[in-house]
Amino acid sequence: MSKKITTGFITNKINGITVNKNYPAHSSNYTNSSSRTVSHVIIHYTGNKADAGLANCKYFQTANRKASAHFFVDNTAIYQSVELRDSAWSIGCSQGYKTSARNTNTINIEMCCTAGNYLVSETTQINSAYLCAEMCKLVGITANTVDTYVLRHYDCVKSNKQCPKQYVTNPAQWTQFKTWVKNILNTGSHLGAPTPASSSYVINGVDYSPVFDPTYYSNKYSDLKSAFGSNATLLFNHFINNGMKEMRQASAKFNVQAYATRYADLRNAFGALTASNAVLYYNHYCTNGLKEGRNGV
Ligand SMILES: [Zn+2]
Repeated sequence: MSKKITTGFITNKINGITVNKNYPAHSSNYTNSSSRTVSHVIIHYTGNKADAGLANCKYFQTANRKASAHFFVDNTAIYQSVELRDSAWSIGCSQGYKTSARNTNTINIEMCCTAGNYLVSETTQINSAYLCAEMCKLVGITANTVDTYVLRHYDCVKSNKQCPKQYVTNPAQWTQFKTWVKNILNTGSHLGAPTPASSSYVINGVDYSPVFDPTYYSNKYSDLKSAFGSNATLLFNHFINNGMKEMRQASAKFNVQAYATRYADLRNAFGALTASNAVLYYNHYCTNGLKEGRNGV
């Protein structure tokens, strides 16, 4: 699998970030071409104790660095240093190669050491995964072929290059990165599609599906999204144990405050809405209100 590309600088936003192209590498640091055939995307880290993208770009603006990369990614920015149709000097190795990947047929992404102590933060890794997925789309790499065509620098060369170091010493992190890339290719989100519920949302005979939609719940509350992602089971557990008491809205079709305000008969029956009786309002809608044609919002 490979694709002829003529793309120079990219214009797409990556994970909401506009790619900065204001600091291109000096022309002595890469091989200029009008087009080339690309098969692989290679992931690197900068190997500094702590750094960010801008300083790296500025470094390669100076002549005769004898190295380069297409992109530098940090927590908040993505810099494109070399045009995609040009070959960056990222994986050239006098000791030979382990695969068919070379400077000439690869797109090279450098993750900056944004966590300090020679480590790349999770935020930078996620930004890099979105960029990697975009490059996969450009060259025709699918979720099914990521494992073959998205490689660590370490995978490419015989010199035992520890790059990115944390992906060599902790391969589970590398697997996680590739899972994010596959999820993005399949669903547009590194978290992937919501986990389907293994059973219906029934607790003690009450079916909560009219008031609980995991996608709605996760998207509405950033604290839940960061804690549970799209895991429907964990989101439902939170809803049952805490969400109803906190009077959170977990479905576009039901808002407990609106429901209590709208129906005086329910307030007479249950008392004015509080954290301690909120569950009664949720239960009422699920067991009776919906059937009675009551408005949940
Ligand atoms: Zn590298």
